[in-house]
Amino acid sequence: MKTRFYNAYIITCDDDFTIYPNGEVWVEDDKIVYVGEKKEGFMADKKINCFGDIIMPGFVNSHTHLPMQLFRGLAEKTSFNNWWYDQIRPLEEHLKPEDSFWATMLSIAELVRGGTTCVLNNYFHQKAPLYAFEVANMRGAIHIDVRYKLNKEARRHDWENRFAELDKKNPLITFFVSSHSIISLDETGLIDCTYLAKKYDLPQTIHLCETLDEVGKCEKETGKTPVKYLEELGFFDYKATIAHGIHVDKEDMDIFKKHDVNVSINMSSNLKLASGIAPIYSYMQKGISLSLGTDSVASNNRLDMFKEMFLASTSQKVLLMDAKVVEPKDVILMATRGGAKALYLDDKIGQLKKGYQADIIRISISDPHWHPHTDLISHLVYSAMYSDVVMTMVAGKVLYENGTYYIGRPIEKIYDECDKAIKEILKKANKK
Ligand SMILES: [Zn+2]
Repeated sequence: MKTRFYNAYIITCDDDFTIYPNGEVWVEDDKIVYVGEKKEGFMADKKINCFGDIIMPGFVNSHTHLPMQLFRGLAEKTSFNNWWYDQIRPLEEHLKPEDSFWATMLSIAELVRGGTTCVLNNYFHQKAPLYAFEVANMRGAIHIDVRYKLNKEARRHDWENRFAELDKKNPLITFFVSSHSIISLDETGLIDCTYLAKKYDLPQTIHLCETLDEVGKCEKETGKTPVKYLEELGFFDYKATIAHGIHVDKEDMDIFKKHDVNVSINMSSNLKLASGIAPIYSYMQKGISLSLGTDSVASNNRLDMFKEMFLASTSQKVLLMDAKVVEPKDVILMATRGGAKALYLDDKIGQLKKGYQADIIRISISDPHWHPHTDLISHLVYSAMYSDVVMTMVAGKVLYENGTYYIGRPIEKIYDECDKAIKEILKKANKK
C-alpha cells in the first residue's frame, strides 16, 4: 500500500526541526519513503490533499496505566497517598483481566483520537493490555513488574516465566522491566530489576521522586535521596526511564545526566494530585532527555498530549516567573522525539524521516482557534485541541480518521463493556 500526503505543513521533528510549509510525505507499507518539498513521481494507491493541515510524527506518551481508564472521575479532590491507598487500590482489587482488556481498548481509542501513536503502559495486568495492543495494531511498550509480594527466590523466576509467555516478537511491542516505585519494592527487589534488565537487554522504568513523602521516607531510612539510593544500587547502570522526577536536587540531576536517564514529565497528574511541579527548565539546562506522559485518567483525567505540552511549557513560566522559558518547539520535541528516546525506539519513530516507521498524524488547522495562521508552531501548543486531530496512522495503518476508529472492535461495544465493568467493580467495592 502506497500513500501520498501532499499540500501539507510538515513538521519533521528532525535534528534541525525542519518544516516544509507546502510539503509531502510518502508512505509505503509501514515505512516513510520520502519527506520534503512538493514532488511528483510517486505512484500512490491513495493520494491525500491535506489543504495546508499539519502532518507530523505521532505523539509518544511515556508514562501511563491504561487499564485504569475505568476509574476516570472516581477519585477526585485527593492528594497522592489518599488517592492511591484509599481510593484506587480498593477498586483495583476487583478488576478482572477482561476488564483490563476493554479498558485498554478504550484507552487506545482515546490515544489515537488525540494523535498518540505509541505509549509506555505500566500495570499489574499485562496479558490483557498486550492483547488489546495486538487487536488494535497499536504500538507500545508493556512493562513487566517484579512482584513485590513474592519472596526473593521466587521473584526472578516469576518474572522470567511471564516474559517468556508475553514476548511473541510482535514488531509493534517492546518490553520494560518495572519496579513500580521504591515504596513498593525493597532493596533486593530493586537489585532483581537491574539483573533482569541486563540479562534480557531491556530498559527499566520506575515512579521516582513523585511526592515529598516518598523522598522524606527514603532520606530518613537510607540517609540518601531516592535518586542517590538507586544509583548506589546500580539501578542506573543500564537503560532507564523514570516517571515524574519532581522533587530532585542538583546532585540528582547530575546523576540522571551521568547515566543518560530519561525523565517522563507528567504535569497534569502532578498538578491535580497536588504533588508538585517538575523542574523542566532546570532539566533542560542540564541537557537531560525529557519526554511527556499523561499518567492514568484516574489522576489527570485525559490521555491528552496537547494538554501535557501546554502545561509543560506554561508551568515553567510561572515557576520561574519568566515567560520566555520552555518554548513551543521544546515541548513538541518532548512529545515526539523525547518520547521515542524514553521508549528506546528513537531509531525508528519520533520524527518524519526516510526509513522511519510511518507513525503519522494529521492535524486540522481549519477551526476558528487556528486563525489567523500566523505561527502554526505556537498555535500547536497554545491554541490546538486534542479534537483537531483528523487522522492517526501507526506503522502505515490508519487507526483513526474523521470520527471513525479502526482498532479491531466497534467503539460502541468498547463503551458498553467499560460501562458494565465499572458498574460491577463499584458494586463489589460497595461504592454504589
Ligand atoms: Zn504512574
